[in-house]
Amino acid sequence: MAMIFDRIAIIGIGLIGASIARAARENGAANTIQIYDANPAARQRARELGLGEVFDDAEKAVANAELVVLAVPVGAMEAAAKACARGLKIGAIVTDVGSVKQAVVSALQAVLPTYVYLVPGHPLAGTEHSGPDAGFASLFQNRWQILTPLAGQTEAYAAAVDQLEQFWRGLGANVERMDADRHDVVLAVVSHLPHLIAFNIVAMAEDLENVTESEVVKYSASGFRDFTRIAASDPTMWRDVFLNNKDAVLEVLGRFSEDLAALQRAIRWGEGDTLYDLFDRARRMRREVIDAGQDTPAPNWGRDEKS
Ligand code: NAP
Repeated sequence: MAMIFDRIAIIGIGLIGASIARAARENGAANTIQIYDANPAARQRARELGLGEVFDDAEKAVANAELVVLAVPVGAMEAAAKACARGLKIGAIVTDVGSVKQAVVSALQAVLPTYVYLVPGHPLAGTEHSGPDAGFASLFQNRWQILTPLAGQTEAYAAAVDQLEQFWRGLGANVERMDADRHDVVLAVVSHLPHLIAFNIVAMAEDLENVTESEVVKYSASGFRDFTRIAASDPTMWRDVFLNNKDAVLEVLGRFSEDLAALQRAIRWGEGDTLYDLFDRARRMRREVIDAGQDTPAPNWGRDEKS
């Protein structure tokens, strides 16, 4: 494919940053990749893995970059942008990959110079692993990249958004544009609440006194195991998501709690039809997810039983 940017900089070389570096290299979407991470061990590992040119200074890492990708936890976005702000080239596109948009946009707008184009984004792709070693080139393949461009901008800004869209398409993603507030509500439903439930259920099982931990682990293939995968996600990342998407999460959580109470009542009063109808509706949703290419129909998530 055609090269989209000559020089890009990635700040934060964990799972997402390293995946962008690998995908950009493999697909030829960028010529030079400059990297900075606040963690010296991550910088060292990025050097060993040959992910790009690694700098020990954020300002130097963004020098002359046409695109700067902030790939740090949501709560660190402001500090990361501040650290590189003075090195940014005039007219550079600055984007982020944070799982929350409104809070990140406000934080970034406060510290970025007015001569760069801020185009916030969020790849709906990830795994429960972190760090530079977790990155892989195909992570964004056929996954959604959501861009939340700022309203009321110039033609030059629109061109910057188009160029960033081309870049993400170059990494194999499908791209959609959305308002930041809409993004935060949608993600509260499809990602944040499911993670909260998984963290809660796994921690609850560990706390239960009448079921020993070894029994929970031994019989985990009954369903629990799939929650443990989600609950293995990075605690820093998820703490920041809930602290920064408070309103949307609390709204969706309120609705969830009401529905759960209704289910509790249906079980108590033996309302089989209510239970059946809800489970049937939920089951059909799985078919829609598979038809949309967002998962495989293979039993057991396509996993080898032994793996
Ligand atoms: P990660 O693997 O933990 O990597 C983040 C890296 O950024 C770490 O090396 C971290 O160092 C470093 N860092 C922290 N603060 C920094 C700063 N101020 N300046 C420079 N580097 C800094 O995280 P990730 O999973 O790639 O997530 C990165 C972002 O992508 C988050 O905003 C997350 O919401 C978003 N996201 C994640 C997923 C997912 O599934 N993981 C999916 C979509 C979007 P330390 O380890 O020392 O903190």
